[in-house]
Amino acid sequence: MQIILLGPPGAGKGTLAALLKETFKLAHISTGDLLREQMKANTKLGGEIKKFVENGQLVPDGVVTLMVKQKMADAKILRSGFMLDGFPRTATQAQDLDKILAKIQPIDCALYMESTLPVILKRLTGRRVCRNCGALFHVVNKPPAKEGICDSCGGPLYQRSDDNEETIKKRMDVYLESTQPVIDYYKKQGKLVKVDGDKDSAKLHAELTKIFNADRKSHKDQKSGRN
Ligand code: ADP
Ligand code: ZN
Repeated sequence: MQIILLGPPGAGKGTLAALLKETFKLAHISTGDLLREQMKANTKLGGEIKKFVENGQLVPDGVVTLMVKQKMADAKILRSGFMLDGFPRTATQAQDLDKILAKIQPIDCALYMESTLPVILKRLTGRRVCRNCGALFHVVNKPPAKEGICDSCGGPLYQRSDDNEETIKKRMDVYLESTQPVIDYYKKQGKLVKVDGDKDSAKLHAELTKIFNADRKSHKDQKSGRN
């Protein structure tokens, strides 16, 4: 299974990806996470990346596409199937991804998580992330048992530097301008599946699990000549 998760910042891509990863044992490739790893490593590249991310701007296509290309060279990821979260974010990235995958496996679908601005703002300003394992929390919707401490691993929670109201609004503008064309790109390919990102992520996960399981079964049946 090869899935792309699309949608505005705060639509719940990361939360849904964590749930689907458990159910279907898919690799979760988040370009946001890959970029934050670079920033944390304090390399020269990390310093360059930081300037874009902290301003709510997109990191240049070439940098991000190369990261994804390197991941796609990993045989383990191709065997397990993958979810791409936060990539592609521009029409150029979408074309480059098709080129990368041409020799590998095409994607099955692009899940478009539609969400509204009030929900997005509430989710992102209250979001907390575990510095150690990346688990996601929310001060109101999903508080940890002990304030500031990760339920899963005991690591410290932090607030992303781009999760402030001003930068969130900038990210939304960038999304509308640069990422909206990506939605049309997959619509034209007949691969777009629209879901309600404002919905509770556990509910969404349950619905999608049913759909994907049915889909997998029909693929298997087709292969074995049944229908
Ligand atoms: P969100 O979806 O909540 O905005 P991400 O973690 O996906 O969060 O991305 C955080 C930031 O990382 C983006 O605002 C952008 O600066 C950068 N980024 C992530 N993915 C890409 C990408 N595919 N192309 C360019 N920049 C990216
Ligand atoms: Zn943790």
